[in-house]
Amino acid sequence: MIQKLAINGGEKSVNKSFPWPIHEETEADAVAEIVRSGKWGNPDCGDEVEKFEKEFAAFCGSKYAITCVNGSVSLRLALIACGVKPGDEVIVPPYTFITTASSVIECNCVPVFVDIDPETYNIDPKAIEAAITVRTKAIIPVHFGGLACDMDAILDIAKRYNLRVIEDAAHAHGAEYKGKKLGSIGDVGSFSFQSSKNLTAGEGGVVITDDDELYAMMRSLRNVGRIEGGQWYDHYNPGCNYRITQMQAVLLSCQLKRLAEQTKRRNENGLYLNTLLAEIDGIMPLKRGEEITMHSYHIYIFKYDASKFGDLTKDQFAELLAAEGVPCFKGYPHPLYKQPLFQNKNFMCYAIPETVDYTSVNCPVAEQACATDAVWILQHAMLGEPGDMVAFAGAIRKIQEASI
Ligand SMILES: *Cc1c(COP(=O)(O)O)cnc(C)c1O
Repeated sequence: MIQKLAINGGEKSVNKSFPWPIHEETEADAVAEIVRSGKWGNPDCGDEVEKFEKEFAAFCGSKYAITCVNGSVSLRLALIACGVKPGDEVIVPPYTFITTASSVIECNCVPVFVDIDPETYNIDPKAIEAAITVRTKAIIPVHFGGLACDMDAILDIAKRYNLRVIEDAAHAHGAEYKGKKLGSIGDVGSFSFQSSKNLTAGEGGVVITDDDELYAMMRSLRNVGRIEGGQWYDHYNPGCNYRITQMQAVLLSCQLKRLAEQTKRRNENGLYLNTLLAEIDGIMPLKRGEEITMHSYHIYIFKYDASKFGDLTKDQFAELLAAEGVPCFKGYPHPLYKQPLFQNKNFMCYAIPETVDYTSVNCPVAEQACATDAVWILQHAMLGEPGDMVAFAGAIRKIQEASI
């Protein structure tokens, strides 16, 4: 018997909410203690920021971590420290959040979009090499949704062409590639602590690196260009005040204690959901190879084939699925280069050559992912019980049965 869909007044498939962020009295007490101490700022007083940086670097297996106001500025710190100069090119994927590419423009450099792999939705290493020119200085692989990029292939290309690798790990706290934490593999790893991210203090960001010079430069840029051992009123580098507060840092320290367990839970649920969804005609989970030793499932992505769902568009399908109680989203409506910012070249930047024209960019895999294929289930739902994964799959089957 065909069940009535929740959108038409039927019973929801999932009758449960998935809270985020997760916090207890420990968080409230820790922040209150800082508030009472009056030591709110950084770096003039208190030691919570440095403490969290040490903890996060150790968690990632990196030498250094430098916090900053968000996961966009963190990319800017990384790019400048890596020595990009006006007019240089930086390779980025088109299936990502805007600041992966707009941070490049903020550095007066040219984002060059390279298409994604249809099986993983991460930047396709096979396409990177063709995009390299004499002006290419860096690659920003994005571990989209928390799934590691093909780092061996990317590092190999970077080595051969002398390029810097800045990992945008904004989705990938605690995720791994061949047992190594994401963000710790390239020259710099960049993370966001914005409220939707898997580790959050409401806002915030961090960069990690093993390189002493990159560390010193990023630390200087974060602190209005001051240098270690320099005078307070001496500013050497084109930085700004990108510092976080002691309250954010202490909240992050509390949240970090939960991260490994939460990541493990999302990872296990994701593996289970892969097996459940693979059995549904017209639904295909993204490929996950053996090198993915831990997936953070900031976004669980599956591919949707409308022809198996009575030609419901992806947007209609996602709307029905959300009504069934599955925390999901239809994903990006178009690749990044289609944004008015790029189409109109509305840049405050005179170093980008006139010849750069984003209206002629076409990345067909990203186009298809956005238009028809990619559906997202959000990270807080991946913190549920195995039974919730069964319910998510059940909701998809219910929509399928009602639509064909
Ligand atoms: C969230 C995000 C960022 C930016 O982080 P903010 O802290 O919001 O500035 C950068 N890259 C990706 C892939 C993101 O998802």
